Amino acid sequence: MDAPHPMPQVGPNGAPLVDPYARAITYLRVSVTDRCDFRCVYCMSEDMHFLPKAELLTLEEMARLCGAFIGRGVRKLRLTGGEPLVRRNVMWLVRELGPHLGRGLDELTLTTNGSQLVKYAAELKAAGMRRINVSLDTLDAAKFASITRWGRLEQVLEGIEAAKQAGLAIKINAVALKGVNDGEFDRLIAWCGEHGHDLTLIEVMPMGEIGGESGPGDRAAQYLPLSMVRADLKQRWTLEETDYRTGGPARYWTVKETGRRLGFITPLTHNFCELCNRVRLTCTGTLYMCLGQEDSADLRTPLRGSADDAAHGAGALDAAIRAAIARKPKGHDFIIDRRHAGAAVSRHMSVTGG
Ligand code: SAM
Repeated sequence: MDAPHPMPQVGPNGAPLVDPYARAITYLRVSVTDRCDFRCVYCMSEDMHFLPKAELLTLEEMARLCGAFIGRGVRKLRLTGGEPLVRRNVMWLVRELGPHLGRGLDELTLTTNGSQLVKYAAELKAAGMRRINVSLDTLDAAKFASITRWGRLEQVLEGIEAAKQAGLAIKINAVALKGVNDGEFDRLIAWCGEHGHDLTLIEVMPMGEIGGESGPGDRAAQYLPLSMVRADLKQRWTLEETDYRTGGPARYWTVKETGRRLGFITPLTHNFCELCNRVRLTCTGTLYMCLGQEDSADLRTPLRGSADDAAHGAGALDAAIRAAIARKPKGHDFIIDRRHAGAAVSRHMSVTGG
């Protein structure tokens, strides 16, 4: 196991970020846009309202903010969204962040739906990314179209192949959806084994209204506890415990038959908030200290009010970041059952990026 909270070294911008529960904040996830070219039924409603373009941070501002966090001990940075690769000029940001690798930053990575990977995989690798997460809930083309509403499986599979050819390690993320893909986990495990990808299954989380109680927006109907899934998989696969960790909430097993890792992200059946090392920045410069709570901090105003983020422990931006970290809550309160079928937080996953 990892040490619970390895302390980051003091960065060029002063003391590392440590929250009231002694958790060092070393992982920043950045939602570079809340827009997406898919409309996954558990993530978005069909008629989404997006953040006003006028409120977006520029890519230059995002790069500055990321630099400010890296200077304060952040060692892992993930670009997400919405779909990060549909943000115009996003490769400029990736290229701008790459040079931080080895200079404070250990890892620069991405979570994507894969639709744009044919176009960008080689550039991502060239900018210093080593591994990426690709979301893929099913290998059935018709089911894929109905889950994503707007997506095409073939395009994503081509994207995944392009990423593999570019030399990127790939982890497939699949949200476990009762009655939708629960008959397919064996196939996904076998397919990942054949193609050399790791796989993580994720419990559906109650984030944002997605369109009501019965039909595609019914989370209580979608929710599938992964404790049950794992017990079922163990009847057909040899799952060997491992202490492999990526700094995230997944717990991994090795599938002996394929040699690949199988992870489970279980915010509902078993949360790991006590090890949380992350905060999330939206494309408008709002910092969320917990995926499952509403509290947030505006970093855009202090960012725009100060030209110099490097001021050692000084300035409005530094104060705003530190005040936000001081409010990081102990954990989330996600519950899904018939009595709690609504959203635990009002924003959609696409705002804070999963
Ligand atoms: N567009 C990118 C993608 O598809 O990976 C990045 C953003 S997406 C919001 C990040 C991840 O969150 C995806 O794996 C998606 O399946 C997952 N996700 C979205 N809504 C979710 C929810 N309510 N519960 C659990 N996972 C969710």
